[in-house]
Amino acid sequence: MIAQTCHDFLEAEVYPNMVALEKGDRELMKSILKKSGELGMMGISIPEEFGGFGQSFVTQMLVAETTGAGYSFSVAYMAHCGIGTLPIMYYGNKDQRERYVTKLATGEFIGAYCLTEPGAGSDANSGKTNAKLSEDGKHYILNGQKMWITNAGFADTQVVFAKIDSDRVLSAFIVERDFPGVVVGPDEHKMGIKGSSTAQIYYTDVKVPVENLIGKRGEGFRVALSILHMGRLKLGANVLGAAKKTITDSVKYANERKQFGLLISSFGAIKHKLASQVIRLFASESAVYRVSHDIDNLMAKLTVDCGDYGRASIEAISHYAVEAAILKVYGSEMLDFVADEAVQIHGGMGYSAELDVERGYRDSRINRIFEGTNEINRLLVVDTAMKRAMKGEFDLFGNAEVLFNNLGNLTDGEVVGETYFEEKSRYTGNFKKVILLCVHGASKRFEKTLINEQEVLNNIAEMMMETYISESLALRVNKLESMKGSAEVYRDILDVNIYDTAGIVRKSGYDAVYSFAAPEIVPSLIRAIDSLTRVKGVNVKEARRRIADKLIGDNCYKF
Ligand SMILES: Cc1cc2nc3c(=O)[nH]c(=O)nc-3n(C[C@H](O)[C@H](O)[C@H](O)COP(=O)(O)OP(=O)(O)OC[C@H]3O[C@@H](n4cnc5c(N)ncnc54)[C@H](O)[C@@H]3O)c2cc1C
Repeated sequence: MIAQTCHDFLEAEVYPNMVALEKGDRELMKSILKKSGELGMMGISIPEEFGGFGQSFVTQMLVAETTGAGYSFSVAYMAHCGIGTLPIMYYGNKDQRERYVTKLATGEFIGAYCLTEPGAGSDANSGKTNAKLSEDGKHYILNGQKMWITNAGFADTQVVFAKIDSDRVLSAFIVERDFPGVVVGPDEHKMGIKGSSTAQIYYTDVKVPVENLIGKRGEGFRVALSILHMGRLKLGANVLGAAKKTITDSVKYANERKQFGLLISSFGAIKHKLASQVIRLFASESAVYRVSHDIDNLMAKLTVDCGDYGRASIEAISHYAVEAAILKVYGSEMLDFVADEAVQIHGGMGYSAELDVERGYRDSRINRIFEGTNEINRLLVVDTAMKRAMKGEFDLFGNAEVLFNNLGNLTDGEVVGETYFEEKSRYTGNFKKVILLCVHGASKRFEKTLINEQEVLNNIAEMMMETYISESLALRVNKLESMKGSAEVYRDILDVNIYDTAGIVRKSGYDAVYSFAAPEIVPSLIRAIDSLTRVKGVNVKEARRRIADKLIGDNCYKF
C-alpha cells in the first residue's frame, strides 16, 4: 500500500509536471516535495516520536525503489529523505531531532547534504571549509565553499561538513539557509536530472550555534561515510524503480512498432535486449532485498542492545558497507545498460526529447558518479572486506591459503545426482574460491602495496560483485520455487545469469593472475580457474526468448 501511494503520487504530481520541472521551475519542485511530505512519504525512515512512520528497512527500500521511477524528483526526494535528514536522525541528539527531524519528516523543511568542495570530491576528508569557536563559546564561525549540492536552491537545512580549527578530520554541523553569511549560487546546467536543483553554497563568517554540532567534534567524517553507506543502499533500490519503468516503456514500444511488416518485439535481436534488461534488473533486485532483510534483522538486535534506534540503524547499515558498495555499482551500471538498450529499442524515436527514454538515458548517468564514484566503490568492495578479515571478523586469508596450497587438487566438485539448486550453489561456491585464490596471490605478491594495484583490485571487485549478485538471485529463485511450485522463467533468468557470471569470473580471474603471478605458478592457477568456473552449457537463445516472451505477453515489467 505504501508503494502504491508513492506510485500514485508520481502519476498525479510528478509526471504531469516533468517538463516544467526540467525547465527549472524550482518553486514547483519544492511544492511537490512538500506535498510528498504532507502525504507521509518523507517520514518512512523516521520513528513516530519524531513525526515519522518508523517503517522497516525493507519498506524504506521499497519506497526508494518506487520513487526511483520519478526522474529528477526522485533525486531531490532521496537527497532530502536520506543524506539531508538521516545524519541528524542517526547522529543528532534529542534536541536536534526535535528541532529539525520533526520538520524534515513532514516536508515543513527541505534538507541538503554538503560534503563536496571544489578541491575535495572523492577525497572528501580533504575539504577546506573551516569552523572556529567564537570567543564567547556560543557559536562556530563557518567559512568555506561547497559544490554540487542537491536541493541547494531551496533547502532550509544543510548538513555541512567542516574541520574545526586545524583538526585532521571533519565535524558535522546543521546550518540553516537563513543564517547570515550563507549564499547559494545559481543552479548548475547539467546533462540530466535537470529538474533537480544543484548549486554551490558559500559560507562567510556564518555563526552556527554550538548546539548545532552533530555528534562529537571530529565525528563528521564517520557521519559522512556511514550516511554514504546508507545512500548507496538506497541508490541500489532507487535504480530498480527507474529500470522497471524503462523496461515497461521499452516493451510497450516494441509491441507497437512495426518494421518489415512485423512487430519489432518479434525479432530475436530485440528479444535478446529485452531479456537482458530483465535479467540484470531481476538479479539486482534479488540482492537489494536480500541485504535489506539482513539489515532489518541486525537493526532489531542492535536496537535492543544499545537502546537508540538512530545509532542502531546506522551501525547495522555500516555493517553492510561491502554490500552497499556492490548494490550501488551493480545497480547504477544495470540502469545505464537498461536505459541505453531502451534508447536502442526505440531507434530514432529513442533520440527524441519527446520520449521518457531519452530523459531516462540522461538521468541514469549521474548514478555512477554521486554517492562515491563507481571507481571508489569498486575499491571499497575489496578494501573493506580485507580490513574486516584482518580484524578477524571472518577468515578470508586462512581459507585462501588452504586453497592456494592445494591448487593441484582443485576440481569443480561436481556431485552425481545433485539437485538444480545444489548445482547453482556449488557454482557460486566455486566462484568464491577463485576470489580467494586471487586475494591470496595478490596479497602475497604485492603485500602492503596491493592498494596501489587498482587494476587487480578491480578484477577482484568484479568477481565479488557478480558472485554476490548471482548467489542472491539463486537464493531468490529457490525461494520463489518453493512458494509457487514452479518457476520456469525464473530458472531461465538464473541459468543465463550464472552462465554469464562464470564468464566474467573466469576473465577477471585470468586478468588478475596474469597481473600478479610469477610465470611458474600461472599454469596451475589458470587450470584451477578453468575448473572452478566450469558450468553446464545453457541454450541462452531459447532461455532469453522465453524471458522476453513473458515480458512481451505482459506488455509491462511483471516478474
Ligand atoms: C548532480 C550531482 C549532484 C550531487 N549532489 C551532491 C550532494 O548533494 N552533496 C555532496 O556533498 N556532493 C554531491 N555531489 C558530488 C559528488 O558526490 C562528487 O561529484 C563525486 O563524489 C566525485 O567527486 P568529483 O566530482 O570531485 O570527482 P573526482 O573525485 O575529481 O574524480 C574524478 C575521477 O577520478 C576518479 N578518482 C578519484 N579518486 C580516485 C582514486 N583514489 N582512485 C581511482 N580513481 C579515482 C573518480 O572515480 C572519477 O572518475 C553531486 C554531484 C553531482 C554531479
